[in-house]
Amino acid sequence: MPYKGEVAGKGGHSDFVRNPDVQAFLAECDYMRQPSDAEAGAMASTFSVAPAGDPSLLPKYVVASDASKSDTPINDRLPSTQVGFIKVSQILVSMDSYAELIDPQSRFVDPFKAAEMHRNAAAITFTLPGSNVRYLGAKSVKDGFRRAVFRQLNADRSNGGGSRLVLSDVLVNVNDGRVSVGRSSSRAGQCPSCSAEHDFTFTISEQEKVCPSCNEPVFVTDWLRLHEDVSDFGNNTSAMTRMMNAIEHLLLAALIQQIFLADPRALSKMAFVMDGPLAIFGQPAKLHARIMALLYGVNTRLAELKLDPLLIVGLQKTGEVMDHANLLSRFLPNGVFRVLDDAYRYKYIKGSDSPADNFGFETYYGQDFLFKTEKGRIFNFALPYPFSDKSGDQKKFADAKAQISNYGSLISRACDLIRHFELDLYESAIVPVALAHRHASISIMPGGKVLDIITKTGLQRRP
Ligand SMILES: [Zn+2]
Repeated sequence: MPYKGEVAGKGGHSDFVRNPDVQAFLAECDYMRQPSDAEAGAMASTFSVAPAGDPSLLPKYVVASDASKSDTPINDRLPSTQVGFIKVSQILVSMDSYAELIDPQSRFVDPFKAAEMHRNAAAITFTLPGSNVRYLGAKSVKDGFRRAVFRQLNADRSNGGGSRLVLSDVLVNVNDGRVSVGRSSSRAGQCPSCSAEHDFTFTISEQEKVCPSCNEPVFVTDWLRLHEDVSDFGNNTSAMTRMMNAIEHLLLAALIQQIFLADPRALSKMAFVMDGPLAIFGQPAKLHARIMALLYGVNTRLAELKLDPLLIVGLQKTGEVMDHANLLSRFLPNGVFRVLDDAYRYKYIKGSDSPADNFGFETYYGQDFLFKTEKGRIFNFALPYPFSDKSGDQKKFADAKAQISNYGSLISRACDLIRHFELDLYESAIVPVALAHRHASISIMPGGKVLDIITKTGLQRRP
């Protein structure tokens, strides 16, 4: 029963936290708490007035990306036999047509016009074997998972819309044409199935080899290491999450590369909005460094053409930075911002007394900022690090990534973009993200539909 005046949480959370054993345990723990007025005042004093640019320099187009996933038992009576489904959407919003979406009276989005915008969204789907499902006769779920990842990343996803879109090609391209699968310490390369050391270097024209030791196919996409978390009977949710995260960023890279090759000048008229931090976590994390290098290369060329750098904004709706922002917001005046440098992050958010020399060394390719708009809503946005790589002294890198001057016009352009899309309708989200999110969200599907997908993609059930 909820206490008087309390609403029961989803998991009976308030009862549980009131348990004296839990209270005693928490007293011995460090965790993020509501800051005292003095602490909050000290934090708030480090914010400065948020910059604003020329509204006429807003991008002409915004690409918003979002992803969702579901992993479901294929049948109610086989709860441990799962199949995973990932859906990633990129939605292209023309700023002109966005303006037409807004009802001038209410300032709210017209739902009928928004629905029309959905039809311009491109969703790419992936189906993956989960627990107890072996794909294409593979000897283990893991080897089948590798086959499924390769087959689906190696497929042309352009939907007949002109230029080819093959994500495994993008993977080779962002690696400067050569991808080696195996431990980085192993010069030869290593088979992901039997661990034997052989040369597993891949190029655009050779994306599949056979292991001379075990005869298993080895794929260029094994470089992402997504299969490493997959087991025959375990829950493979984390592998699906990693894959979704990696695909979302790979698609961003693909789109930027395609536009860059077609006309680099077009990029300076666009903004790209990602849902979440500019980071790739877990097994495929090293992809973050390749995307960082790609963006730096593109920006170098844009600078030669006397054009502004790419505006890529990661927006985080949840997580510890947003928790902190929400606790702090009432102490902040409207219209302020702050770079989330490592010192601030470790002191006020992480609460760690052993901070790393460079937060996010293995995962992040973008810097976080906090921004409270003039209307009083708080956002956590990220911009790509303006460097080609993280080599050298990590403390120096940590300093450089937090130097406002290194971001040029990007901070004011990001703030302007958020201001432009900010609407009371959405909590800490801007409209394209919300649109993409709704487009990509997957409801739990009835078993029959999941079986349809299995049939369509050639996933075979065990006899
Ligand atoms: Zn092998």
